[in-house]
Amino acid sequence: MAVLAPSPRPPKAAAKRERTCVGCGDAVDLDEGALEPGIAPSAEQRGGATLLRVALAEADGAWTCVVDAPANLGGRGAWVHAAPKCLQRACKGGFSKALKTKVDLPLATLVEAGQLAAERRMEGLLASARRGRLAAFGHDACRELLAKEPDALLVVATDAGAIARSREVEDAVRLGRAVAWATKRRLGVFFGKEEVALVAIADPRMSVAIVRAVADRAAFAACSVEPKGSETTTKSTKVEGEACRSPEVR
Ligand SMILES: [Zn+2]
Repeated sequence: MAVLAPSPRPPKAAAKRERTCVGCGDAVDLDEGALEPGIAPSAEQRGGATLLRVALAEADGAWTCVVDAPANLGGRGAWVHAAPKCLQRACKGGFSKALKTKVDLPLATLVEAGQLAAERRMEGLLASARRGRLAAFGHDACRELLAKEPDALLVVATDAGAIARSREVEDAVRLGRAVAWATKRRLGVFFGKEEVALVAIADPRMSVAIVRAVADRAAFAACSVEPKGSETTTKSTKVEGEACRSPEVR
């Protein structure tokens, strides 16, 4: 029996999944260093802003949107960086141009959807960190984990109190390895405790995803407080940076 030699095929040339931000017009390769489908790192100059898909729908002349971080919703959509300048430009005409129709989407609607999506992602990440035993919680357990994994990310409750002034947290803040998120009670829900002030995540992929979710939420939030027409990148970068480096603690 003749054995057919496998015909030499060129390595599967995967189609480049490039998407363009409707705010700044930059094209981003979704798979370049992608951590999760649809969540791709972008150019350094934007402080690591995430390119997110926004699913848009029109009903009775009013536009609504869902920030579709996993990029799995059907229907019409467009891509935009989670950066105030890009979000503002998207609402000012970027979405209309991309969808070739007049999209009258208030920035406030997009901002609300963006913050909600970032919160949901954060909740999902914490839940899977707990399920996968990838997180330590409580000061002692976090300290133990940090002794073994010095690069672990700390999630500090915004009302963490004295723990936020501990050496472990101060070191992590200085190294950019800490994010502030939610209250002790809310963090507690994910770990079956009444209150949790401190969580340590050792898994690097999960840490990056958490930092992104917190930074995305900060970018959308910064958009809602910026004066109309303001396009200062420095401001957005600062807010994102602060979200990652200084837990808002009392
Ligand atoms: Zn952009």
